[in-house]
Amino acid sequence: MTASLGGDTRSGGSSGPAASAAISTLERSRVMDRMERERFDCVVIGGGISGAGVACAAAQRGQSVALLESGDFASGTSSRSSKLIHGGLRYLAMGDIALVRTTALERKEIHRLAPHLAVPRWMVVPTRSRAGLLKFRAGITTYERLGAVEPKDRHRSWSVEDLEREEPRVDRGVFKHACVYREYLTDDAHLVLATLRSAVRSGALALSHAPVDEIAIESGKAAGVEAECAFTGRRVRVRARCVINAAGPWVEAVRRLESPSASPLLHLSKGVHIVVPASVLPVHHMVVGTARDRRSIFAIRHGDVVYIGTTDTSYGASAAGWPEITSADVDYLLGPLREMFSGAPVTRSDVVAAWAGLRPLIADPGKPPHEISRRDEVMVGPAGVVSVAGGKLTGFRPMARAVIEKAAEVCGLALAPWAGEREEPLPGGDFDGDLATLEALLAGKFGLSRPCAARLASLYGSEALVIAAMGTEPLVPGAPVLASEVDWSVQVEGAATVEDVLYRRIRAALFVPEAREASLEPTADRLTELLHWSDERRLLEVEQMRERLASDLRFRS
Ligand SMILES: Cc1cc2nc3c(=O)[nH]c(=O)nc-3n(C[C@H](O)[C@H](O)[C@H](O)COP(=O)(O)OP(=O)(O)OC[C@H]3O[C@@H](n4cnc5c(N)ncnc54)[C@H](O)[C@@H]3O)c2cc1C
Repeated sequence: MTASLGGDTRSGGSSGPAASAAISTLERSRVMDRMERERFDCVVIGGGISGAGVACAAAQRGQSVALLESGDFASGTSSRSSKLIHGGLRYLAMGDIALVRTTALERKEIHRLAPHLAVPRWMVVPTRSRAGLLKFRAGITTYERLGAVEPKDRHRSWSVEDLEREEPRVDRGVFKHACVYREYLTDDAHLVLATLRSAVRSGALALSHAPVDEIAIESGKAAGVEAECAFTGRRVRVRARCVINAAGPWVEAVRRLESPSASPLLHLSKGVHIVVPASVLPVHHMVVGTARDRRSIFAIRHGDVVYIGTTDTSYGASAAGWPEITSADVDYLLGPLREMFSGAPVTRSDVVAAWAGLRPLIADPGKPPHEISRRDEVMVGPAGVVSVAGGKLTGFRPMARAVIEKAAEVCGLALAPWAGEREEPLPGGDFDGDLATLEALLAGKFGLSRPCAARLASLYGSEALVIAAMGTEPLVPGAPVLASEVDWSVQVEGAATVEDVLYRRIRAALFVPEAREASLEPTADRLTELLHWSDERRLLEVEQMRERLASDLRFRS
């Protein structure tokens, strides 16, 4: 293993840890000053995976880039996915061969750049009969060929004895076989943050909590944007040769800033996930079942919890407020578990966390959301704004290349050649992918518990060593989360609110039930110190966070 202690090319701020490519919240006003002073090749609207990918691709190819995000980085769809880096086996059945090939091949590329953010895991598909097993294997063989899967990672069959050993809760009265194949698990929010930090390492500037509310048009051509800092009200005018709209579910609203008559484009689809303790549903891998409408449902082990997803229902309202998680959504997910697993059924009251996302699909009139292709589309508006919509987390790199090449064509940018396989690993990705060795190193060197070491390694990769060196005091007594992670969130990963930390940095709101509420006060205390909050601001943050945590689980009452 070749884990480094983080690198030191750019410091995160006056008092931050030395970290490669930091986005420090302590530097916000300096970033705004620079955004106003300089003129950029590209300004990117949206800090989800699409915007981060575009900023990274553009900066690595020699462009000066500014990125503006209305909320927190990754606060849109890109922290609310199923967290799979996958080719999308079911899109093969829909005949979307090109999409499957691209995304299946991307699995290996993302693993190469950030092995902790694309961890190979077994997807277990239990079947009732041998005929069912053989049918599934035929499809998976094509899938593996498209993704150039190496022999050691190819699918295999499990007998009923294998199932008993590996997934003892799968109902062996019903399922006598299983086909298992490789997919990759990620932390979607950290994939965005690492990609954005990689853009910053190549010279990009990124600012969160700064919604763009105006596109400046000069002589008929988009020439920049205006945004307002959500904390201070300061307005920032960013001048650029090219404006790129990567606003995900809000892409249409941003297109209307360019042209009020822009035609509708998207079909939004709501996807809900629920989380239960692994003690309630002891799944070890990622197990696939079938919902009542024949859609696939996954139960995925994640540390000491298992998450189950997802729904796929048309969402008529605008993306302005995030969709509610209803008891009907939760019951849809719980239903198939009763068929898949033996033992006591999982109930609504077992659910300890939940999240809902909106898929920004390219509308295909007449088709229900689960039949709509997950392809992406790049469009150019009347003032030359380049918009990107649709797509998947997994395909963000090829999508970003397509966007930046279109932007170069429209705005006359001269792109340096793409580095291809010479691309540098993402921050934290500079180790050989052996997470078990990294975990053992963290546990041995810093005396961390195994669950804590495993959690740190998979969220931060090699940078977990830097974070542990900053301090190993737990944020909440007995929970596998370190207080130093809060400092890292602010000084390196651009967190600016309690929600940013709990939901998208330390992930306690989703995956650490014992710290879900207990980490709120200590996080607010530390942010108050680091960011010099007033008592009023601290109180507001705590109240808002309590409401948000409660609203996620309101379906239980
Ligand atoms: C339930 C669900 C499960 C999924 N599972 C998977 C999966 O397992 N694997 C996979 O590959 N894909 C998956 N996807 C798809 C994937 O998550 C999305 O394709 C991807 O995250 C979209 O990213 P984005 O950057 O385009 O949009 P977003 O992540 O939503 O980013 C857009 C950003 O733009 C910002 N913004 C909007 N308006 C403005 C403005 N005016 N100014 C500044 N910023 C603005 C928003 O705040 C937002 O952060 C899933 C999607 C869902 C909903």
